[in-house]
Amino acid sequence: MTDLADLIFPPACCSCGALLGRGMTTFCGACLSEIRFIRAPLCPVCGIPYPNEAEINHRCADCIRSKESFSLARAVGVYDSVLLEVIRRFKYRGRINLGEALGRFMAEFRYEGMKIEDYTLIVPVPLHRKRLKERGFNQAVVLAREIARRHAVPLDLGVLKRKIYTEPQTGLGRDDRLRNIRGAFEVVRPEAVKEKKLLLIDDVYTTGSTVRECARVLGKCGASEVAALTLARAV
Ligand SMILES: [Zn+2]
Ligand SMILES: [Zn+2]
Repeated sequence: MTDLADLIFPPACCSCGALLGRGMTTFCGACLSEIRFIRAPLCPVCGIPYPNEAEINHRCADCIRSKESFSLARAVGVYDSVLLEVIRRFKYRGRINLGEALGRFMAEFRYEGMKIEDYTLIVPVPLHRKRLKERGFNQAVVLAREIARRHAVPLDLGVLKRKIYTEPQTGLGRDDRLRNIRGAFEVVRPEAVKEKKLLLIDDVYTTGSTVRECARVLGKCGASEVAALTLARAV
């Protein structure tokens, strides 16, 4: 199906701007070939991919050592090259239309061991209102809106709130990040998550501390499951 908008603005690659051929969406072939897509073998919990294709899915050392507050986390690709550059452009240069295309890209990807339509509610990771004011939009909301729409899963933008402003976590390790973010989120309407299968949406999974803390508070309020989906993942 061709959208009217496609005739007026022919679809271009989100990364290099090349016009896309028939059947291509989001990225051109050259940019697609640079994305390191995440597929099996991976850790079935946190979703970290294993470089050796001959391996089978197995829990990574971190997931064996400590139980996660989320059931599973998945991402489209590794956070480098094309995905890193396109996420930065979307977030820091306010390219919201880019975010919509990336949300569609996330909605269309096939994730190992996860089906988006199995979830009963989609919840984007919230920004603190100070950060929201600085950026003007929440990148997770832009992505989540497209995913929810394309899979016909309800979206809740108000159930989870970031009540504490935290400095950017860049440069901090796994434990420091978790300590830094502990207590930063609050469930505003616990009854809205009770016995729901929730899918958290964010742009990047770095050490997992953000989705881990969101999942912890949502789980305490009676969510039956909390999974996380991001566009990219650090490895
Ligand atoms: Zn391209
Ligand atoms: Zn793991």
